[in-house]
Amino acid sequence: MTLPNDPRASRQSGDARPPFQVSFEFFPPKTDVMEQRFWESVNRLAPLNPRFVSVTYGAGGSTRERTLRMVRSIKAETGVDAAAHLTCVGASRDEVDAVVRGYQDAGISRIVALRGDPAEGIGQPFTPHPEGYANAADLVAGIRRIGEFDITVAAYPEKHPQSADWASDIDNLKRKLDAGAARAITQMYFDNDDYFRFVERARAAGITAPIVPGIQPIHSFKQISGFAARCGASIPDWLAARFEGLDEDPETHALVASAVAAEQVLELVDAGHTEFHFYTLNRSSLILALARLLGIRPD
Ligand code: FAD
Repeated sequence: MTLPNDPRASRQSGDARPPFQVSFEFFPPKTDVMEQRFWESVNRLAPLNPRFVSVTYGAGGSTRERTLRMVRSIKAETGVDAAAHLTCVGASRDEVDAVVRGYQDAGISRIVALRGDPAEGIGQPFTPHPEGYANAADLVAGIRRIGEFDITVAAYPEKHPQSADWASDIDNLKRKLDAGAARAITQMYFDNDDYFRFVERARAAGITAPIVPGIQPIHSFKQISGFAARCGASIPDWLAARFEGLDEDPETHALVASAVAAEQVLELVDAGHTEFHFYTLNRSSLILALARLLGIRPD
């Protein structure tokens, strides 16, 4: 039996293509132990046939070599398409262009292009390198001058903390897409209404590119609240209440986390959304469960 909103319904309609497209974001591991967990997760998630997996670029380019190494290895070991993140903070155009050429030489054709944040954090004013790219839109244009890349940029359902108002935030997204990006992925957010309103604003401004929701499963409420605060995403009171008192009860915490993420994803499915980007934090269990809800199984 299929329910009216059951993702299985579209699978059973005989479409050759799976109805949902997913991508997974990892960060480059620092230690051998972290690298082991990274590979365990990559190897569990790669058989889900994601559109791509991406590897972040550490603050100020601190993981330049590791990002490249991980992206290359993912492609070579799993055959899954991999995207490298790239920021332009604290680097000259020549330095950034050299990284782009390095990606090109390594056969990497997907880049997630970002401005990055000053070392002091997202709340601090951003001053471009004197010979650097001024912002993400400028970076996208620079990447396009070098070669044919599939470029993804960032979007903010709750507005980027440095945007003066919604109009300038949406204008900025439009500039990035007009400069040659194919899609945007959103910052983590926990209230789908923020995302729905954001997409409406973008469409009203003439943006037609996909705006893929960035889903952050809450492996640890304490850790994710810290990340959210640092990137300007808010934690709704109802969400905090769900996790209240669960620090010492990992089993219930995990069940609540899975229910919260399932609710967020299935609400998006009900609203007709078919593309999802999952922030994995190099963990796989919750994401595997969410993929199952979307009808995505290992190949
Ligand atoms: P931009 O699009 O350049 O915008 C930043 C701010 O500047 C906005 O408020 C915008 O309105 C404003 N602005 C831009 N141009 C102008 C202008 N001409 N005049 C006035 N205002 C302007 N960070 C990392 O360090 N490494 C990563 O790997 C990484 N991956 C990410 C992946 C995703 C999907 C997301 C959503 C974020 C990621 N980030 C990463 C964080 C990102 O670097 C920060 O959010 C950063 O603060 C902004 O980057 P941006 O590309 O959105 O910047």
